[in-house]
Amino acid sequence: SIPLSFFAGIGGASREGILVKGANILETLSKVKTVVFDKTGTLTEGVFEVNAFHDHEDKDLEENKTKLLEYAAIAESSSSHPIAKSLQRAYGHKIDRDRMSELHEVSGQGVIAVINGKQVAAGNEKLMKSIGVESCNCHKAGTIVHIAIDSRYAGHIVLGDVIKATSANAIKDLHRSGVIQTVMLTGDSKAVAEQTASQIGIDKVYSQLLPADKVSRLEDILKEENGDDKVAFVGDGINDAPVLSRADLGIAMGAMGSDAAIEAADVVLMDDDPAKIGKAIRISRKCLRIVW
Ligand code: ADP
Ligand code: MG
Repeated sequence: SIPLSFFAGIGGASREGILVKGANILETLSKVKTVVFDKTGTLTEGVFEVNAFHDHEDKDLEENKTKLLEYAAIAESSSSHPIAKSLQRAYGHKIDRDRMSELHEVSGQGVIAVINGKQVAAGNEKLMKSIGVESCNCHKAGTIVHIAIDSRYAGHIVLGDVIKATSANAIKDLHRSGVIQTVMLTGDSKAVAEQTASQIGIDKVYSQLLPADKVSRLEDILKEENGDDKVAFVGDGINDAPVLSRADLGIAMGAMGSDAAIEAADVVLMDDDPAKIGKAIRISRKCLRIVW
């Protein structure tokens, strides 16, 4: 039978906006020694600002900056990725989807669409490589969306994400609460990933990962774990569902997170606040009467 203190624990957690999907989960939570994070939307707001546009030098391409954003916004119009939503917002006009005839979203890379008969690709270096386009690596400070039109490089848009106000303290709190290791897994560039991790105080960072790479990284981390120690993964995206279910404990951001992530998770943070993870661990240990 389930001890009464477990019900108190689940109730106490829910009053803090922490949804624990079962009594056995409290026990796993109390043994978490490694916390692995997704970056975008989990440790950062995932609401990007457009910082700069860069046209390609090639003057044969008549697309100007407005055109570049317009193409990107139309190509991204069916995507629910935070980058896509931010580009649509920056464009600011109603999107005429009739102009788009084909759309293909490549998870962890970007989108390819046909707009007015032209093939438009918007995404990262990996996406450009996959269509045989050389992308410029002139900008490192920010998340970059490269745009190619009919397999010719057309320019890029530099986006800036903001670290959540509570992220750094949340990591400190985890380390104080007996968590031994914090890790970040992201599909974003090495430069952005490392800068974000060092600002937040995350121990280890792996970047440029495809969704499948995140699962195999997590499996490596699981293998390294000692005895009864548990590994938690915290994420928000559709892409995160496989990693959330693979971890000993899946924690999803509930407010902005995808339905797939919320479904796959064991714990849901209703207000997307990473500081609630340390709180959840403490609640679980209290109800299991673990002193650390
Ligand atoms: P994260 O691991 O940070 O949550 P994702 O796995 O969702 O990120 O995406 C990884 C990278 O793939 C992004 O940083 C971006 O470069 C690119 N990307 C993914 N989806 C899109 C999209 N819809 N438009 C443009 N770029 C995208
Ligand atoms: Mg994400």
